Amino acid sequence: MGGATSRFRRWVLAALAGVVILILVLVAIVLAVFRFGALPLEDGTILGGGRVEAVVETMGPIAIGSYLIVLENGGYALMDAGMDSEARAIRSVLRRRGAEARDVKFIFVTHAHGDHMGGLPSLPDAEVYAIEADAKAIRRANSRTVQGLADGNVVKASGTKFEVFAIPGHTPGSAAYLVYGVLFLGDSAAAAYDGSVQANWLFSEDSKSNEESLAALARRLEGRADDVQQIAFGHQGPVAGLGPFLKWASERELK
Ligand SMILES: [Zn+2]
Repeated sequence: MGGATSRFRRWVLAALAGVVILILVLVAIVLAVFRFGALPLEDGTILGGGRVEAVVETMGPIAIGSYLIVLENGGYALMDAGMDSEARAIRSVLRRRGAEARDVKFIFVTHAHGDHMGGLPSLPDAEVYAIEADAKAIRRANSRTVQGLADGNVVKASGTKFEVFAIPGHTPGSAAYLVYGVLFLGDSAAAAYDGSVQANWLFSEDSKSNEESLAALARRLEGRADDVQQIAFGHQGPVAGLGPFLKWASERELK
């Protein structure tokens, strides 16, 4: 009886130790990818010739980026909406610019993960856009109208042109957008500390199709280096120019 109980206790302790080790390994991986291995994304970073500003929320060591975009004919768009359901970081950047939540007219979502669409409830006046496969998930989570996009669409938002590229893999409806010379890749790719671009496998639903989508996008943009001044990401970066992305694509082809 006593022997069985202590064996059971030893088993429970070993299982607990296993769980703790597993959690530590996961934390180390997340830290490695999002913090120490990554190019840090700073709040207030200005992109797109002064018309795009990074808004950063922090969750422990992780930076969660969205981007405020000044529209040609007035008002703002957002690239993603952060994680905070009260959108405090976004609203404070707007306040600094003498604007408020209702001045955000459009929100383009790179993909339907909680840290990219969390602020939607606090931005009820904006028209929301996402690739149809992820638009469904956003409608479900928010019970609001979401305009479904498709690859190759060009959306004119208050005079500013948003080019839409479907890059399924991280999520089925992952999107890249090109606006004001900034290529937004969401979480499909990541910027490493050395300024290189990597396909992002972390939390990606289908890493293989993510890589294929990114490689196809690199081929499509190859001749348009002048149109891409910067690449912006969900949690790191940005990097300058299309070069690092094309380099990733050509190295992948050699493998
Ligand atoms: Zn994601």
